[in-house]
Amino acid sequence: MRRIFVAGNWKMHKTIAEAKELVSGILSGLGQYDNVEAAVCPSYLAVPAVSELCEGTPLKVGAQNVYWEESGAYTAEVAPQMVAEVCDYVIVGHSERRKLFGETDETVNKRLKAALKAGLKVIVCVGETLEENEAGETEKVVTRQMKDGLADISAEQAMDITIAYEPVWAIGTGRAATPEDANHVHKDVIRPLLNAQFGEERGESIRIQYGGSIKPNNAAELFSMSDIDGGLVGGASLDAESFLAIIKAASKVLNG
Ligand code: PEP
Repeated sequence: MRRIFVAGNWKMHKTIAEAKELVSGILSGLGQYDNVEAAVCPSYLAVPAVSELCEGTPLKVGAQNVYWEESGAYTAEVAPQMVAEVCDYVIVGHSERRKLFGETDETVNKRLKAALKAGLKVIVCVGETLEENEAGETEKVVTRQMKDGLADISAEQAMDITIAYEPVWAIGTGRAATPEDANHVHKDVIRPLLNAQFGEERGESIRIQYGGSIKPNNAAELFSMSDIDGGLVGGASLDAESFLAIIKAASKVLNG
């Protein structure tokens, strides 16, 4: 059975009080779309409060990053088991981390391994920049990010991974990839790499989310594509009504 997974990345938005208000709004409308898996990823500080409100509900909670060491003199970093104490998911390799904070495929791989070891489910982000896209390098870049980012991950571990294909030029720009272009990268680039690394049965079952300017008005079209198994949503996840509208679109697609 097909599963769609919609996750909201709140980035550096929402105080604890605002995060509680937003998640309460989402929870109040979520019940009717129980065929969709949904998660929200607030800033670290708001994660415990949001997790508390989500306890016993279908809404999952994640953090937006994690460090790879278990403890030590790493001022301001947060260890995997600290994250796992307060939520179930974590995002690694978001393009903003890559661009603004020096994240590399190697550090993505370290974070991924450490997060999986701590029992977290991980959303691994990949995606090309505008420059790379215009130079025709999408396949090359995404292949490198996938191979190096997922290096040494076993088929069993891979069951806790979701891939988010987020073309950087589509994030926060209002200019989403076309459903056909996004599906092409999912189906013809990412899926074969997953199948090759983890075997076809497992590779086919790993979800590949699309991310980049998903809105209520384009979500259904995107989720209708064969290999778009959900979305990582930034801006439109900051408002309960628009996030719920995206989840509703996913639910409708699943109901045919
Ligand atoms: C994101 O932050 O991962 C993202 C896809 O943002 P937006 O939906 O705002 O483009």
